[in-house]
Amino acid sequence: MTEKTILFRDERNAAPAIPRVLETPTGLLGDALARPLHDLRISVTDRCNFRCVYCMPKEVFDKDYAYLPQTSLLSFEEITRIARLFVAHGVEKLRLTGGEPLLRKNLERLIGMLAELRTPGGKPLDLTLTTNGSLLAKKAQSLKDAGLNRVTVSLDSLDDATFKRMNDVDFAVADVLAGLEAAHKAGLGPIKVNMVVKGGMNDQEIVPMARHFKGSPYVLRFIEYMDVGASNGWNMREVVPSEEVVRRISAEMPLLPIGANYTGETAARWRYADGSGEIGMISSVTQAFCHDCSRARLSTEGKLYTCLFATRGSDLRALLREGRSDAEMSTAIAHIWRARTDRYSETRTINTDGLVLGGPKVEMSYIGG
Ligand code: SAM
Ligand code: SF4
Ligand code: SF4
Repeated sequence: MTEKTILFRDERNAAPAIPRVLETPTGLLGDALARPLHDLRISVTDRCNFRCVYCMPKEVFDKDYAYLPQTSLLSFEEITRIARLFVAHGVEKLRLTGGEPLLRKNLERLIGMLAELRTPGGKPLDLTLTTNGSLLAKKAQSLKDAGLNRVTVSLDSLDDATFKRMNDVDFAVADVLAGLEAAHKAGLGPIKVNMVVKGGMNDQEIVPMARHFKGSPYVLRFIEYMDVGASNGWNMREVVPSEEVVRRISAEMPLLPIGANYTGETAARWRYADGSGEIGMISSVTQAFCHDCSRARLSTEGKLYTCLFATRGSDLRALLREGRSDAEMSTAIAHIWRARTDRYSETRTINTDGLVLGGPKVEMSYIGG
């Protein structure tokens, strides 16, 4: 096994213990810091057709990289069963991610299955997906028809040379913009556009991006470059704080802060003083939002992670494939969430090497962004 494989998958992740006393979900699960469980992110593939320098750098994710074999992936039936258990525990929002989720074959079938789930109160879920947009022009309508509510599209620059340097596979901006338009036409809104800002690489694109999306149907959100995974060579000097992003945009297009839509919202919202829409700031590094983080993550092979920066997950697939009952699985999930104390971003130091972790962090393409 190469070192690259060790960085990616942690084989020590065990199946969670099943407590002897089984419990019925109440829909009101709280973790050790009283944070509810509202949001489940499901990674449907660890593969991607981009090699974004901050996520899947080419030097690591090369042709010899050991991606998960097909048999390791959760089937659509397995994903839906796990999602149903989480919904009974209070999850109201499902986000499909990856890797690039649109690369997973027949994804529409999974969307159709998830769209049928209902909260204990009988409400449909908020079913959404994050994509690099490369296949969106082709797939937007079929995704909508299958039951997807909305999409978030990643786009780091409007300048082709910069965008190509970032996706590292020569993919053109115009194709992502065409995907955005198709998603809008199909009714997959409100659509968010995520821009990861990496200092010295695309920060000169902050103002042009704001200008382009101001007054459009799309809500642009700036994401601070994070120290996820173990392969992007993260450095605090390349983080452009959200405060600086707001300052640069405001100098040309004045901004005013607005309140959050709901508790646990990751983006701080700002609106243009002239009334032409809003933008969001995801300040994962400079203003951590762990205090109301209500997100769980399910990896492509069925491991449950309670934090984006986790070093270990709990193997739910093992429980599924051992033939455990819904009651047993549900009880195991409840115990994992109740024990959750994660607040990595709030305890992060300037030099992440200074943090004592239980091993290498899992990659974002595996755990899902
Ligand atoms: N491939 C899809 C995409 O790019 O939208 C979905 C998966 S991607 C891992 C999810 C989100 O994570 C994207 O918006 C991406 O820009 C963001 N992301 C990846 N690596 C990041 C990093 N190091 N810092 C901040 N955001 C990152
Ligand atoms: Fe792929 Fe998304 Fe990661 Fe870029 S950010 S390499 S598109 S998974
Ligand atoms: Fe949530 Fe972990 Fe991110 Fe904090 S660091 S916001 S706990 S995922």
